[in-house]
Amino acid sequence: MYLPPLKDQVAFITGSTRGIGWSTATLLAEQGANIILNGHSNPDLLNERVEFLKNTYGVTVYGILADIANPEEIARCYREIFQTFGKLDIVVNNAGIMQGALLGMISNELITDSFNLNALSVIHSMQAATRLMMRKKSGTIINISSILGVNGFAGQVVYSAAKAAVIGMTKSAAKELAPHGIRVNCVAPGFINTDLTASLSKEESPTIRMGYFGDPADVAHAILFFASPHSKYVTGQVLGVDGGMIV
Ligand code: NAD
Repeated sequence: MYLPPLKDQVAFITGSTRGIGWSTATLLAEQGANIILNGHSNPDLLNERVEFLKNTYGVTVYGILADIANPEEIARCYREIFQTFGKLDIVVNNAGIMQGALLGMISNELITDSFNLNALSVIHSMQAATRLMMRKKSGTIINISSILGVNGFAGQVVYSAAKAAVIGMTKSAAKELAPHGIRVNCVAPGFINTDLTASLSKEESPTIRMGYFGDPADVAHAILFFASPHSKYVTGQVLGVDGGMIV
């Protein structure tokens, strides 16, 4: 009998009602994982997504409306996950925002908002996740950085810095958690067709060697690799999914 590779695994994906997060949720559900979806502003959309995954893949799906930029809300997510599932196997720290501003125009508010969601939330989420994962001495954490965190980009000093921080924390956490059976890896997407990049023109990105923006599913498949036992001997890595931008 065929058993889906992630059957009975429990996966929490932040910011998962659209874009890369939603694509990841559908792929992990297709592979048999039970899913915790997260949205922050639209309860109707969250409920619609929960029902879709349940009905399409027959897995258990739980939706949490929470602002991932707020550490207390992150703590609440993990309390609900523990109460509902009693364990956690996979975390994808995906929720993010990109607000551009040239150096001279950067406000303190932009710095705070960007770092709270794009960087600090990842630390808080890893902290809470490892408390659950250490109970069973296994787990896999996938953090979403960006090619901008690796290479930088004019007009994106703050976002690039926050996404570079995600790479640093991924590597440090990987070193710390390997002896506990917990792996931590990072995916660094290039330019992917989602709401986040809707305002960018394709002509602005001539360095994509493959010549086109990627699909959310391209990133989701890289996340699936880190989520699955196929990567059981891989930790602390940053995988670019960028159509050959960095080669
Ligand atoms: P998106 O805007 O479609 O999705 C972002 C998700 O984060 C949404 O579901 C949104 O609701 C959620 N979110 C925003 N603020 C939140 C908050 N305070 N609390 C909880 N959720 C919140 O964009 P995307 O492209 O799917 O982005 C997903 C991740 O990939 C982000 O971390 C982004 O920085 C990263 N990324 C995207 C690209 C790209 O080209 N699209 C490239 C590199 C990295």
